[in-house]
Amino acid sequence: MNLKQNSVTADSQLLYISWSVDIRIDSMNSFENRHVVVAGAGGFIGGWLIAELIRLGCSRVTAIDLKPLNLWYQVHSEAANQVADLSSLSDCREVLRHADVVFNLAADMGGMGFIEMNKAACMLTVLINTHLLKASVESGVERFFFASSACVYRGDLQDSPDNPGLRESDAYPAAPEDGYGWEKLFSERMCRHFFEDYGLQTRVARYHNVYGPHGTFRGGREKAPAAICRKVSEAIRSGSNEISIWGDGEQTRSFTYIDDTIRGTMLLMLSDISEPLNIGSSQMVTINQLVSMVENIAGVQLNRIYEMDAPKGVRGRNSENSKILELLDWEPNISLETGLEKTYAWIYSQFS
Ligand code: NAD
Repeated sequence: MNLKQNSVTADSQLLYISWSVDIRIDSMNSFENRHVVVAGAGGFIGGWLIAELIRLGCSRVTAIDLKPLNLWYQVHSEAANQVADLSSLSDCREVLRHADVVFNLAADMGGMGFIEMNKAACMLTVLINTHLLKASVESGVERFFFASSACVYRGDLQDSPDNPGLRESDAYPAAPEDGYGWEKLFSERMCRHFFEDYGLQTRVARYHNVYGPHGTFRGGREKAPAAICRKVSEAIRSGSNEISIWGDGEQTRSFTYIDDTIRGTMLLMLSDISEPLNIGSSQMVTINQLVSMVENIAGVQLNRIYEMDAPKGVRGRNSENSKILELLDWEPNISLETGLEKTYAWIYSQFS
């Protein structure tokens, strides 16, 4: 890791410290001799992150989740797998006692259907980040990652399906998604102040709709790509020939494949960038186009039933990637078609 602070700049809303970046993908190996703790390890992104840390030769990985191990999407035997409630300060203190690096991916979250109906639960996730940050400072953690979200962005910039892309500065003046987005924005802000006040090196990614195998695809917390792959699989298995779509299907989004998400997370974590950064694909599609892509992969064409009263979220959302390109010389680049093929194959296989 090459950490060199080179300038302090003011943008329109916030005073950020910007850093010169001198990283290569090889520098991921610098976690090799660190004790890395992954919070939310039984979840979708956490499971893949641990796989990558192990692949890179990191020999001391502790994986923590609230769920019992049999409910984790992936359990890696090379990691020390533990069940703990990270909303509790004493559990955070215990698991971080010998930690060097912390990835916080733990949250009570889901797709639009979950976050619109569970705002208080989403906001209570603030306890996890608060207590992890506090325990990190107490135990001398070197570096802390927080998984934020595109839901921090101002709602009024997402009223049109032709969204030109959300820049990092578009999070302020604050008007995020109610509940979930407010918690993310507040926790981002707390990371910033733990850096400024206590010197804890914090890194914040704003993920845009992550999808891939080994994630939630049923039960009410799933997001659009997984839900559509599941519905197409179910229609084929049952022979119903129908698919329900939330809203008119003309709302737009971009979707980020898990491999890009993990790569971006590692690049950011090993960089000197302490300001929040979009990690999101800029390939924007309508939900109707997303359905057509999955239908093409599955080789079917289904009758579309539009549920106009279902939760729809914002009208248009996309990631604007100038900043990540400038700072990391990289942006997510796995096409939606490629990512969906892998995701659909895995979800379809779960029904056999
Ligand atoms: P996930 O729901 O699959 O994983 C989150 C995990 O956190 C779950 O396994 C859950 O059991 C665990 N958890 C919840 N409360 C806990 C607690 N008190 N103590 C310990 N563990 C607890 O979600 P994910 O898709 O892997 O997302 C990971 C992170 O990325 C979350 O912070 C999420 O908000 C953020 N994010 C995800 C997306 C996405 O599209 N998946 C988009 C934006 C941001």
